[in-house]
Amino acid sequence: MSQEGEEEENDHLLFGGVDVVELAERYGTPLYITDENKIRDNFRSYKKAFETVDNDIYFAVKANGNLAILRILAQEGAGADVFSGGELQLVKLAGIPLDKVLFNGNSKSEEELRAAVESQVKVSVDSREELQTLSAVAVKMDEEAEIAMRVNPDVSPKVNPKIATGLRTSQFGIPYNEIIAAYEEAAKLPNIVIKGIHCHIGSQILDISVFKEATEKMMQLVEGLYERGIELEFVDLGGGLGISYQKEKEVAPTPKDLADMILPTFEAKMESLGSNLKLILEPGRSIVGPASILLSRVNTVKQAYKNFVAIDAGFNLFLRPVMYDAYHEVVVANKLNEQASVLSTVAGQVCESGDIIAKDRMLPPVKRGDFVAILDAGAYGFSMSSQYNVRPRCAEVLVHDGAVDLIRTKESVEDVIRTQVVPERLR
Ligand SMILES: *Cc1c(COP(=O)(O)O)cnc(C)c1O
Repeated sequence: MSQEGEEEENDHLLFGGVDVVELAERYGTPLYITDENKIRDNFRSYKKAFETVDNDIYFAVKANGNLAILRILAQEGAGADVFSGGELQLVKLAGIPLDKVLFNGNSKSEEELRAAVESQVKVSVDSREELQTLSAVAVKMDEEAEIAMRVNPDVSPKVNPKIATGLRTSQFGIPYNEIIAAYEEAAKLPNIVIKGIHCHIGSQILDISVFKEATEKMMQLVEGLYERGIELEFVDLGGGLGISYQKEKEVAPTPKDLADMILPTFEAKMESLGSNLKLILEPGRSIVGPASILLSRVNTVKQAYKNFVAIDAGFNLFLRPVMYDAYHEVVVANKLNEQASVLSTVAGQVCESGDIIAKDRMLPPVKRGDFVAILDAGAYGFSMSSQYNVRPRCAEVLVHDGAVDLIRTKESVEDVIRTQVVPERLR
């Protein structure tokens, strides 16, 4: 079971032209491995798909916050969607232009609002209360705050409820029927400059018809605003395009498919308004998801209730299976050509029965020391990692046409416990 575009040499998995078993020997395991070309290709396919309209692609930093990866995207011309003051700092370090950054979030601190205004990035306003706070912050700083309203469009993508963000019941955004009033309020508030409108309806969306519905609803709001003399510069339709985790069952929609779903409505409305709006999209998963694997080593194989293959990575490094019941393909990276003949369940090494990475899969016979690669691990992988069980986080490498760069060193136990303090009286 090899991935697209990959050839098998001996029986080791090649990723980005590099034998991953050699990477394991050189850098240790667990190890996140990212293919630079895949990231560039994925980004470019968005630019190509939307080239008929003025567009910007804002990478959703929470999907993968590695600086080297953000540098690659900056080189490609990406903007960024950030969700915290920390992510804002990260994109500055990566050299993403601040006029292509949108600061999102349903619970921004005043400090974060100040940082956004100070950095002159656009703020996606998530409530009318926040709108007033932002205005007050901007007045105090004697600066202007550029805004878009985060619309809750009340659409329902068929995805895991934990990642459906545009439901009427979700905590994100301003209710659809209050949006016009919120803009009218914003237009009167001091130091607030209205720039655009924003929504993000969910993640891992495979049935993309919901994007058409969202676009129609958003463009209807735009029209309503124009009728009231409120003009915009951009419409941001968020991210959410799904990828194919389960190759045999799921076909991933492409950015071109997304463009075909969005653009007719978007362009028709622009024409009827006689206005030229910029279209912004905020993909995260579809840019970085397929571009990384998590390589692990097998610690134990145990025939118990099931045939358990226990690896040296768990939900401390890779939360998605536990958090979202996510399916990820796994391959035995040093036995690619061996017959998949044993029903196996790949377990992590965290002290919880829920720490199962892959359930009931046919794998070649595995023994201690073999390598298991978890595929499509680049989105919400490392970025959701923790130090649970006092396990230091692992290293990351970037592969590029057969060459390798270290892009994150592994943590030490010292790193994990450094911030703890034992009071004098307990010593
Ligand atoms: C998470 C998020 C995204 C990215 O979603 P993907 O499914 O990874 O494309 C985009 N915009 C906002 C506001 C988000 O919260």
